[in-house]
Amino acid sequence: MPIDPQDAAICAAEEVRPGPEGSAPTSAPIAQTSLFTFSSFQALVDGLAAEHEVPVYTRGRNPTVAAVERKLAALERGDRCQCFGSGMAAISAVLLGLLRSGDHVLFVNQTYGPTLELAEGLRRFEIEHDLELDLSPDAVRAALRPNTRLVWLESPGTMLFRVLDLAAIAELARARKILTCIDNSWATPLYQKPLGLGIDLVVHTCSKYLGGHGDLVAGAVISTADRMEELFYRSFLPLGGALGPWDAWLLGRGLRTLPVRLSRHEADALRVAEFLAAHPAVRRVLHPALSEDPALLRRQLSGTTGTFSFELERGDYETVRRVIDGLERFRIGVSWGGVESLVISPNRGTNGARLDAGGIPRGLVRLSVGLEGADLLIADLDRALATIA
Ligand SMILES: *Cc1c(COP(=O)(O)O)cnc(C)c1O
Repeated sequence: MPIDPQDAAICAAEEVRPGPEGSAPTSAPIAQTSLFTFSSFQALVDGLAAEHEVPVYTRGRNPTVAAVERKLAALERGDRCQCFGSGMAAISAVLLGLLRSGDHVLFVNQTYGPTLELAEGLRRFEIEHDLELDLSPDAVRAALRPNTRLVWLESPGTMLFRVLDLAAIAELARARKILTCIDNSWATPLYQKPLGLGIDLVVHTCSKYLGGHGDLVAGAVISTADRMEELFYRSFLPLGGALGPWDAWLLGRGLRTLPVRLSRHEADALRVAEFLAAHPAVRRVLHPALSEDPALLRRQLSGTTGTFSFELERGDYETVRRVIDGLERFRIGVSWGGVESLVISPNRGTNGARLDAGGIPRGLVRLSVGLEGADLLIADLDRALATIA
């Protein structure tokens, strides 16, 4: 899909200043420093009083990190962004910053595994949660409890890539003064802008498409200035999950090419998905572009990215293993969203009952379509699928 020209400009821009000689670099310098010193003690005292804005110590603000935060906030059309040392650091800061004991969180849609593991751990602090896999707004409303403080969304969701009606869920939560947060990592802000649909907070792992080269781990939260200031003092600064300046610089560099990378991931993934949908060894392809509700898709997503799943006709572990091991171009590993194509399955051979309970087909194989070119990848899949014919 065409990229919003404003977004393309935000991605390409680099905040650089000319030096004393009048010439400027094309990429910004890295503030590789742990602390910032001040010209007077009073200046330090003032800086500490506004640490959410002033670089004092790199566990708080750092100019290199702040530059990438401004870009991400602008892309999401939010006031402020806070970067973190990983997506999970961002997610834990949101959950720990917003929730108190006695609260309930409703997770809607298939949710990133470690997020649910964290929620499981929060039971120790008397924070309860439920997972709702019926995605209709009525089911979501019915699953709310009097003490629900937060509705956590992922759309498209992990593994099955099902799409939620974000505006409808935002509205029903807001009517009950319940906060909503979405993990927007799959779509990226280029293809989905949840704040405009009424969602309160957006989190990202920047380790996938945003960084885009499989060379860094980072996370981000975007919301209003008030909420971000609260999060800064409540959970970002004390928990210490800061992003280092070097990784922030790499993330900023990744963002500069995000529009072209996404266009290519999108087009090639759609071609691979089409090939798989027509293959006799494949039962179905789970890609948001093939969803049952094209009107919802058009309202919410201006494009699709390169990660999706397919279900093999035969779901036994041996078949799944043979297909994965038969691939040569797709590398075997966790994560997604980088230059190299990746393959993985949730089927570990011993967790069938758990997959069944979670509604995940045993024959599921997830692909992250990289930038090698669709022809090569289709030929590779064709060869691997022939091994189970
Ligand atoms: C990878 C991932 C995360 C966690 O991000 P890290 O940077 O690996 O901590 C969160 N959400 C989704 C959907 C992910 O795929």
